[in-house]
Amino acid sequence: MLGSLRSIVQEVNAARDLPAVLDIIVHRVREVMDTRVCSVYLRDKQSGSYVLMATEGLNPDSVGQVRLEPGEGLVGNVVTREEPINLERAEAHPAYQYFPATGEERFSAFLGTPIIHHRNVLGVLVVQQAEQRRFDEGEEAFLVTLSAQLAGVIAHAEATGALATIGQQRREAKFDGIAASPGVAIGCAHIVAPPASLSTVPYSCCMDVEAELALFHQALVAAREEIRAVGERLKDELNREERALFDAYISMLDDSSLAVEVCDRIRGQQLSASRAWAEVMLEHVRRFEAMSDSYFRDRAADVRDLGARVLMHLRQQQQSQRDYPDNAILIGEELTAAALADVPREKLIGLVSIKGSANSHVAIIARAMGLPAVMGAQELPFERIDGAELVVDGYRGELYVHPSTELRRRYDSIVEEEREIARHLDHLAGLPGETADGHRVRLWVNTGLMADVVRSLERGAEGVGLYRTEVPFLLRDRFPSEEEQREIYREQLQAFAPRPVTMRTLDIGGDKALTYFPIEETNPFLGWRGIRVTLDHPEIFLGQVRAMMKASLGLDNLRIMLPMVSGLGELEAARKLVERAYRELVDEGYDIAMPPLGIMIEVPSAVYQARELAERADFMSVGSNDLTQYLLAVDRNNSRVANIYHALHPAVLRALHHVVDASHDADTKVGICGELAGDPGGALLLVAMGYDVLSMNATNLPRVKAALRAVTKSDLDQLLRQCLNLQCPEQIEETLSSYLKRVGLKSLLQPM
Ligand code: PEP
Ligand code: MG
Repeated sequence: MLGSLRSIVQEVNAARDLPAVLDIIVHRVREVMDTRVCSVYLRDKQSGSYVLMATEGLNPDSVGQVRLEPGEGLVGNVVTREEPINLERAEAHPAYQYFPATGEERFSAFLGTPIIHHRNVLGVLVVQQAEQRRFDEGEEAFLVTLSAQLAGVIAHAEATGALATIGQQRREAKFDGIAASPGVAIGCAHIVAPPASLSTVPYSCCMDVEAELALFHQALVAAREEIRAVGERLKDELNREERALFDAYISMLDDSSLAVEVCDRIRGQQLSASRAWAEVMLEHVRRFEAMSDSYFRDRAADVRDLGARVLMHLRQQQQSQRDYPDNAILIGEELTAAALADVPREKLIGLVSIKGSANSHVAIIARAMGLPAVMGAQELPFERIDGAELVVDGYRGELYVHPSTELRRRYDSIVEEEREIARHLDHLAGLPGETADGHRVRLWVNTGLMADVVRSLERGAEGVGLYRTEVPFLLRDRFPSEEEQREIYREQLQAFAPRPVTMRTLDIGGDKALTYFPIEETNPFLGWRGIRVTLDHPEIFLGQVRAMMKASLGLDNLRIMLPMVSGLGELEAARKLVERAYRELVDEGYDIAMPPLGIMIEVPSAVYQARELAERADFMSVGSNDLTQYLLAVDRNNSRVANIYHALHPAVLRALHHVVDASHDADTKVGICGELAGDPGGALLLVAMGYDVLSMNATNLPRVKAALRAVTKSDLDQLLRQCLNLQCPEQIEETLSSYLKRVGLKSLLQPM
């Protein structure tokens, strides 16, 4: 059964569109289970009823005709119960309904399983038999497994189908994702695909067929040459069979077979060469993957690799021809900081990523840049919307392709409202961060990009609480040298002097991968990241720390902070290295002060050792983004579990509260630089807890300052007591937003 399951899923994955998906399901399931009937019912989004969409065995004319409400008939009962119904004699069940159009009276045994995607019943998969018999446990388990695997594919095919129809009629289509950076962007979708991924090549047509064919042939020639050269280089190390494999690749790329299929698509459908090549190669990959012989299955990877090589050549030739449109909304399967940096800032107005969630680093950068963003838009058929008009609603995590005039008007007015609020907050820049009754809190900024500096200073930042040094590392293709780093750090220190600048040592790993220093791990967030990497590579750590200290010459506003500290040993080891670097520089004649050395509290073990750590560190700063992920065991980057990532979870609040107390007991100042500090409601709670510094992106700074200046500390103390008594995050969120409304700060919540 496992083999059948895999081959059905693979066939379905390779299907063109929803009708093809459903057709494969009903045919193949009926065949594999040897039943008389197999049918699929799907929910009609408009009416909420379940419609027979495909059948093998029932009267084909009944497709589209038979409709059941949830709870109606056996199918409707599968929907409401959200579990399989397995009956020996369907007609004896009280919910049984007879539909003459289907010819159903001839069938007795019934097994229906729900198709559930993200807790929603998308449809029902049904098999039927003429004779009276109960489907056995194995059959039931098979259908349940299959339904679970097909749910995502069906959801995606439905979404693509919605777009395909609107493609011609330009009807509005809505897609959901995760609200990752507030604001609204109305602009033009611009797809960035990783250069060598066959499955993310956007659907695009070509203007000039002959030019496209020429481009394709050049790419083939270049890829053939490349493989030949590699084969030549390795010839002494390869045995005969391995050499033959290289010859096989080269012949696959000659002008026959594959190339003919691709050229047919370029000519016949006027597809772009990349798209035509990707479609053809993926079909071949899937054919190999579906083979039962494991040798051939393994060849699928070779074909994919070959496909990627040619694609890379096609991309290189096309790259120079591609311009970014005005009002570009960047869309990618997994956007990276480097992809963002490629777009001229004045053209970029929003971001959409298929993977990731609100706490992925690219979302953090989007917020820092004030760019509305939606992450985890899993059902968006992004490869089909290059160039389309798009609305990104970063407040609600919604996307609209081809928005109607009315919708556009609504969003235009929200954009105007936002501008108005921003203008209103401008005057706060010169005022201190304090409550109405004079409780002073340092409002600092998180930086990384050069653009952050100007925005931060304009908005009256009093210091930098987190400079993410990995950002300049992420934007290069090798480690920056010590001197290059010194220049970058100097700019940052100089721009803010005499205000303090907290530079975090390199925090790579997790979702921050350097292309030139790949870390392959099955569990990267629990793996080699942050201080763990740099302590294992003292040459990288020392070089960075030396560069920071040299950069601080004559300014003396540097603070060094260590990420991901999980125990005292790491702090001690890092301190030794920092002191060594300092002594060396002094010996070299640098007249600099030893910078304070602080740590981030972002691992649960550090929460429980906060007191001991605070005694040894010069300052502490909570990284609530990671702390939330580790306390709740929720990957901050995974959109599937984004709904249970709550920075305001009672457990997180207790940990945050404990850290302030422990730190103050040791007379050590403590701040917070996770995203919670930039949320007006969250910030007020942190102030009540006693945090000395709140560090946030420059975009949110005026909002937090406005909130702080409108309330009194004694009011906040009461609010904190109330929140600490609540048992679930939703209640806490609700309490905070009603408080903001009550004190006249409604405009700091999302508009609408
Ligand atoms: C954090 O984890 O809260 C933090 C500020 O660090 P980063 O988001 O860069 O991991
Ligand atoms: Mg962190």
